[in-house]
Amino acid sequence: MHTPPNRDSSLVRLFLELVRIDAVSLMERPIADALTRLLTTEGIRVQEDDTGAQVGGNTGNLLCFPPHFDPNKPALMLTAHLDTVLPTAHLKPIVREDHITSDGTTILGADNRAGLSVLVDLLLSSVRPTIPQRNYFCVFTFGEELALYGAGTVDLSRFNVIGGFVFDCSKRPGIYIRESVGLHLFNARVIGRSAHSGVNPEEGMSAIVLASEAIAKLPLGRIDAETTANVGKIVGGEAVNAVPERVAIEGEVRSFTPQRIGEHLQIIESIFRSTVEGKGRLEFETAVDFEPYVLAPTSPVVVELERALRGAGLEPTPIRYTGGSDANKYNAKGIPAVNIGIGAQKPHSTDEFILIEDLERSSHIAKELVRA
Ligand SMILES: [Zn+2]
Repeated sequence: MHTPPNRDSSLVRLFLELVRIDAVSLMERPIADALTRLLTTEGIRVQEDDTGAQVGGNTGNLLCFPPHFDPNKPALMLTAHLDTVLPTAHLKPIVREDHITSDGTTILGADNRAGLSVLVDLLLSSVRPTIPQRNYFCVFTFGEELALYGAGTVDLSRFNVIGGFVFDCSKRPGIYIRESVGLHLFNARVIGRSAHSGVNPEEGMSAIVLASEAIAKLPLGRIDAETTANVGKIVGGEAVNAVPERVAIEGEVRSFTPQRIGEHLQIIESIFRSTVEGKGRLEFETAVDFEPYVLAPTSPVVVELERALRGAGLEPTPIRYTGGSDANKYNAKGIPAVNIGIGAQKPHSTDEFILIEDLERSSHIAKELVRA
């Protein structure tokens, strides 16, 4: 027998309250203020850092500490992000029989208000805990949807974090991301020579032709079981009657080790160089969007999570994933972290929804994680 979900729990009510707050990337002030007010009133210490301004945001990261938190002891870190994508105007959540949706004109924002609700509810439970809890704190980041900004800028060096648990994977509870790709970007600028296309075309060197020749030779798409590559953007040319002087090509490489990403970027760069040089000029730059992480089944953060998942009555299901999350940034800082399925399904769409039982299960996972 299946018991119907409680559609009027304090967790559901908190979720409905949080999704109604409009706060997209770099404009997280309304949600940050609401959470700070709610938590500090109840006795949770909230610190906001000032790193949002570094990238033009109006809000920093929120670090939230239960009353018993001891910064000198090893701690667990549970995290979610403050921002959502668009569209969010006049967002109206609708509670159906077993799930919550928007009215179809906006996203729901369960990505990541579900994670926030679960962790705020957890923090509130720590004010007068009914069972002993471990040393933990929460981090709520800004600008995740743009470039994992907050998780990149937040300073965690003063804490002894033994594991990070990111409540932000759209998969169902029980599933978690144990291995995630990294993503590096490249920007190739091909520079030829401009000329009038009708008067003196032989004096020109078309950057569009050079770029096309190079792109046609690039290994793109699925390269191997670990690696993908893409050219996603081309900007170039000035006028139909001019031999184009400049083209800029932007692309990416994803793989599960930085070495593999680096190797493939070198192949791409050398194809551009051998095609362009001698006829035109090439400027080639790469940048790290986020680094990959691959955690062993025996790593403490994985062991801790699997214990909590089983405690919540779930079967631990590790997956490898080809997208990034704040967990990538924490791992890059040397803090082993996993991204946990919370069932915020069809994110970034007007069909987004969450099952009420998945909200409750995610909350159960969080409570098991911090149970002493
Ligand atoms: Zn998210």
